[in-house]
Amino acid sequence: MIRTTTLLKLPSRWSGFVGASRRLVGAIALLGFLSALQDADPRETEAIAARATRGPFVMERGEGRQPIRFPRDEKLEYSVQLNLGVLGSPSVGKVTMTSKVEPYFPDVSVTRDGADSALEQAVVTAKAEGSYAVYTVEEIITTRVLPQLDPRLVHTTVQTGTENRRRELLIGRSPEGPSSSYRSDGHCKGCDDRAHFVKSTWPWQDAAHCSGCKRGEHRLWRAPRVRSTPDGVLDMVSAVMLARTMVEQGRADAQFTLLDREKLWDVELSRGRRGRRKTAAGEFDVVEVLLRTRASGDGKEAEEFVGLFGMSGSISIWMHPESGVPVAISGSVPAGPVTLDVSVELVRYKGTSESFRAVIKGSKPR
Ligand SMILES: [Zn+2]
Ligand SMILES: [Zn+2]
Repeated sequence: MIRTTTLLKLPSRWSGFVGASRRLVGAIALLGFLSALQDADPRETEAIAARATRGPFVMERGEGRQPIRFPRDEKLEYSVQLNLGVLGSPSVGKVTMTSKVEPYFPDVSVTRDGADSALEQAVVTAKAEGSYAVYTVEEIITTRVLPQLDPRLVHTTVQTGTENRRRELLIGRSPEGPSSSYRSDGHCKGCDDRAHFVKSTWPWQDAAHCSGCKRGEHRLWRAPRVRSTPDGVLDMVSAVMLARTMVEQGRADAQFTLLDREKLWDVELSRGRRGRRKTAAGEFDVVEVLLRTRASGDGKEAEEFVGLFGMSGSISIWMHPESGVPVAISGSVPAGPVTLDVSVELVRYKGTSESFRAVIKGSKPR
C-alpha cells in the first residue's frame, strides 16, 4: 500500500524514468519505500521498524483454545501436479501462499496520524493458478485477521478464468453472540443495466438481458445469510495456520470447529508419521498432519468434506516439524465425472522462520 501511494507522489521528473524502466520495478519500489520513510511521521517510521523486529503475529482465541501464529512476511510457492499413473504427472498449476502483517485502520476516513494506526492485521493469501485442457482457473483466497470482535475473520474467494465466482465469509462476535455472515455472487436475474444485455441471434430482434453466462461482469452479490456459530470457529485458511502453529509448537493434537461457507465441521488434527520429503526446494524433514473431520452436531465421519483448493477424500499433509511450513499436500479433487489425484509440492520459499532448513538443498534458487 505504501509503495503504490508513494509512486503516485513521485515528482514529475521521475515519470519518464518510471515509464521507460518497467524492468526496474523492484528498484523503483525500493526508491518509493525509501521516500515513504522520509515523508513519514517519525512515529510511523518507528512503528515500521518495531514491526520488523517483533515476533510473529499471534491471534489469541480465548481460554483453552490454541492461539494461531502468523508470519510477518512469508512467501511459499508450490507446484501442482496431476498424478495420471502411466500417463505421467503433468504440472497443471501453481499455488503461492503469502502471510503478511499490515497496519490496520478501523475507519478508512481516519488519517494515518490517528491513534489507532498501531493496530495490526494479519493477511494470508493463497493464489492458485492453473489450466488443464481448455479450463483455466485463477483462485485467490484471502483471510484477514482483524484486531476487533466483529468481524474478526474476513475470508474471501475470488475465482476468475473459465468461470467467475466470488464468495465472502465474515466470522465474529456480534452483541447477540458468535455468528457468521456468508454471501456469494450469481448471474443477474434481470435488470435495466444495458451492460447486462446481449445481442439477439436474430437481427430483427432487440438485445435482451442475458439469461446466463460465465462473464464476471454479469454477476451480482446475493443477499448475505447470517447464522449463529459456536465460539472460536475458523475459516479454511486460519485452520491451515492453526495446523502450522500446532506443529511448530510441538503439540500432539488440536481440535477446532471449521466453518466452510455455511457448514460447520468438527476437526481433529494430530501428528502422524515422520519422514523425509524430496521437493524442488530441497529435501526436508517432515511430519504428517492427520485430519479427522465430522459434520458438526451429528458426529458422523464426514465423507464429502472438501478442503483447501477443493481437495477431498484422504488428504495427506506433510509439514516441516520445527517450523510447521507445509512441504507437500496430496489428495483427490472431484472434477465432474472423474476424481483426480493431485499433489502440491514446495518449490520456493522466502521469509520463513529460522528453523526452516533443508536437509539437502534444492535445485531451484530461493
Ligand atoms: Zn442485470
Ligand atoms: Zn450473462
